[in-house]
Amino acid sequence: MKDKITTLDRPIQVKKFGGTSVGSIERIHNVARIVIESLKNNYPVVVASAMSGETNRLVALAEEAFPHYKGPAYDMLLASGEQVAIALLAMAIERQGYKAKPYLAHQIGIQTDNVSSKARIQHIQTEQILKDLKEGIIPIIAGFQGVDENFNITTLGRGGSDTSAVAIAAALKADACEIYTDVPAVFSADPRLVPLAKEIKELTFEEMMEMASLGSKVLHIRSVELAAKFGVKIHVRSSFQEREGTWVMDSVQNLEKPVVSSVTHDANTSVVKINNLPEGVSGLAQLFEHLAQKGIVVDIISQTHLPEGQRLAFSVPSEDLYQAVTITQNLFTQMHKLPAQIETMDKVAKVSIVGVGMRNHPGVAAHFFKILAKQNIPIFLVTTSEIKVSAIIPSESLQKAAQSLHTAFSLDQLSKET
Ligand code: ADP
Ligand code: ASP
Ligand code: MG
Repeated sequence: MKDKITTLDRPIQVKKFGGTSVGSIERIHNVARIVIESLKNNYPVVVASAMSGETNRLVALAEEAFPHYKGPAYDMLLASGEQVAIALLAMAIERQGYKAKPYLAHQIGIQTDNVSSKARIQHIQTEQILKDLKEGIIPIIAGFQGVDENFNITTLGRGGSDTSAVAIAAALKADACEIYTDVPAVFSADPRLVPLAKEIKELTFEEMMEMASLGSKVLHIRSVELAAKFGVKIHVRSSFQEREGTWVMDSVQNLEKPVVSSVTHDANTSVVKINNLPEGVSGLAQLFEHLAQKGIVVDIISQTHLPEGQRLAFSVPSEDLYQAVTITQNLFTQMHKLPAQIETMDKVAKVSIVGVGMRNHPGVAAHFFKILAKQNIPIFLVTTSEIKVSAIIPSESLQKAAQSLHTAFSLDQLSKET
């Protein structure tokens, strides 16, 4: 049982607004209306992202100033977008005659580790937020950022405001976290890539975690992990339409789960290949340990033994490609006293199918390969788990692959809603 915060007479509700939802002053006023409306039944605690396009603009500036730079200055720069959005939102709410206060992460103690641009939240102080709620003030908190033990500003990785929101909801013992975005729900595929994608009413944490880890950017993966760990339900919904979206929770009602519930893609994936790896596993262990220390998530790994020696290929997020190659090369020269023969592939994408129903249905992987073969789409790397099949394919074939998998696994919606 969660302890209720007894001195408040309505439930606390964390509401997170993404970049598009706060993308202009007009949209910020729309968000202010949603927040004020929710005062009737709840105590809203608001988390906001930077205005749409702003974080990309800051990334581009950093790249121009110092290509591939990572360090405290990078986090400080990227975190600045959220500061603008929360200040404007607080003003929009105050203009309507309500009290609101914007907070940066350090002002309310969102404590993280010190991994630059991929920090993880360790602790959140709730005193100030609760004090505000009791005084009728709406806290407006900057998403995506934290502060490490040396008071450096940190960021949680692209899309990280979802994680800020769920972590705050968990710290406040709220039952649910509302994620307002630019699509009305989670769909069976990214509706921008697969126009026939259909809305999913309910998803388990497990399915949503797979979708997020396979690249579906509608929710940041860590937000789903935290929601599952602390039992916070997530409601993904539109900030432009007043209606119910998708609930992500522990278990779902629908007994007739489809075998495959979604087709997920990641266009920002790259592959590193090492063609002269000496035999043995200790080199592999060290390499993956070094990558993990820098917060680089290695996804698909393939290792082959050829007469010429051991070969290794693995996929990483494209934004980490440069760092992954540098780490590999440094470690290789240090351990094996010779340069690594590295090849990289950056015009690739990952396409996956996900579904808990796969557990009881053999032959799903075979069907997946047949569909891609029929479209003449080559597969560079592949991986499967109990509830997913994933393949790295050429970027140019991504849309064709996603659409044909969506159709072949009977996910297309029958008639397009108007
Ligand atoms: P926000 O700025 O609100 O955080 P994001 O751009 O991070 O929004 O995430 C929303 C986007 O996620 C949508 O516009 C959509 O293109 C994309 N997306 C990817 N996969 C899915 C999916 N399965 N269902 C819904 N949206 C998806
Ligand atoms: N503004 C950050 C980004 O664009 C965080 C977020 O939007 O969740 O990645
Ligand atoms: Mg997002």
